[in-house]
Amino acid sequence: MKELQNYIAGAWQSPVKNQWLDNSEPATGKVYSRLPDSTAEDVQMAVDAAKKAFPIWSAMSVEERSRIMLAIAQEMKLSFESLAEAESKDQGKPIHLSKVMDIPRAIQNIEFFATEILHMASESHGTKGVLNYTVHSPIGIVGCISPWNLPLYLFTWKIAPALATGNCVIAKPSELTPLTATMFAELCMKAGLPPGVLNILHGNGKNVGTAIVEHPDIRAISFTGGTVTGEQIASKAAPMFKKLSLELGGKNPSIIFADCDMQEAVQQAVRSAFTNQGEICLCGSRILIEDSVYEVFCDAFIQKVKQLNIGDPFENGTNVGALVSKSHWEKVLSYIQLAKEEGGTILCGGSPVHPQGRCQDGWFIEPTVIEGLGNDCRTNQEEIFGPVVTLQRFSSEEEAIALANGTKYGLAANVWTQHLAKAHRIAHALDFGIVWINCWLIRDLRTPFGGMKDSGVGREGGFEALRFFTETKNVCVKF
Ligand code: NDP
Repeated sequence: MKELQNYIAGAWQSPVKNQWLDNSEPATGKVYSRLPDSTAEDVQMAVDAAKKAFPIWSAMSVEERSRIMLAIAQEMKLSFESLAEAESKDQGKPIHLSKVMDIPRAIQNIEFFATEILHMASESHGTKGVLNYTVHSPIGIVGCISPWNLPLYLFTWKIAPALATGNCVIAKPSELTPLTATMFAELCMKAGLPPGVLNILHGNGKNVGTAIVEHPDIRAISFTGGTVTGEQIASKAAPMFKKLSLELGGKNPSIIFADCDMQEAVQQAVRSAFTNQGEICLCGSRILIEDSVYEVFCDAFIQKVKQLNIGDPFENGTNVGALVSKSHWEKVLSYIQLAKEEGGTILCGGSPVHPQGRCQDGWFIEPTVIEGLGNDCRTNQEEIFGPVVTLQRFSSEEEAIALANGTKYGLAANVWTQHLAKAHRIAHALDFGIVWINCWLIRDLRTPFGGMKDSGVGREGGFEALRFFTETKNVCVKF
């Protein structure tokens, strides 16, 4: 059985307490590797290594840091196929998706911040006889905690700006998807990243995650995950006055107006609902449809959903793979049951799937479409994070906005209309950090990324991310 290790001070390390966790392949339900169940002692080792590395890494010129990061990206390109295979095996997603989305984007994250740092400027404010200028310096040691849905994609999205700005990083991938982060450590060694600059600790959130959040020498926490976990992290980190970036859950609406390009809207609503088994924080899980086209949309949507192939992530024609874990699979099934109890009608799907052959014990669920539920029920209010969508009707712009804004979340919305002024009006009225008009999941890494309300605090992406990982100082000179 494969044994993954922590990466501390540029070397592989077993957990201090010699405790281990099993790691399963979602598509087969079988354990295939084990990983460290790290504790506060491992965090302390990583912090000691990061403290030693910080004076070296932070003193390097931005050009030198950029060159090392680009060398890491180059190593990732050389390992593209094996990274993609590992991601699908560990997470359950179709291999096609790993190849077109996860791994290319992980490489792009490193390249983007490696080059963006070369363009980071600081402000100056002059007045008679006085010049103020701003210095952005690295914070020191920072913690990056990432989830299991887009493992290497979100792991690199956090550590790249942290490294580019000269910080040393203690990073924790999800215990459910530790594989590509471990492979990434190996690529960092090959690319010549100095020991201790990046330290990767495996284990569960309650132990090692909490130890990272509570360590007094880790001065900033960048976290992506569930809203409840975000709350717990904030309650520990805020009294210690740590910088915090929280990217949390969502319950995102796809809003379909009668005047949209219907064919495109249907196509993209299917994509937005079921890509990555619906396990993307940006997935549109509540589809709001204008009354006059409800039946037309619904028929075309269901027809397309029924065409999706569910099964082995390693088969090329697979559109929907396995859910990440047995407990998540059970949680999603329990929400389908809840939807029925709340009075919803299942228009398609609704059941677990047991494909023939090697995947018969895997954690698969049919893409599920539910109608007939009001906006206030739990199915329409709580994040399910699986291949489950609901359909609701609206009859006016005002009603669409009220339904869309009517949850505690505010991460992303997508709106389908050909009416230019209406598109802008709706975009301004929606309480979401991201609004896509006539598209979904087009990402420009320079744009601010994050949610409103319970979907998070702060923004990632572009210069916002670089600024988050720096301390800002004003220097005032009288001359
Ligand atoms: P969790 O909140 O359960 O976990 C996220 C990470 O935090 C994992 O590494 C986890 O470790 C760790 N963790 C858990 N508890 C603690 C703790 N008390 N202290 C410190 N770390 C902890 O989320 P999931 O992994 O289940 O990911 C799914 C969630 O992530 C969804 O709600 C989704 O919406 C959200 N998400 C948000 C995104 C955004 O950009 N807004 C993007 C992607 C996902 P472990 O796995 O070991 O428990």
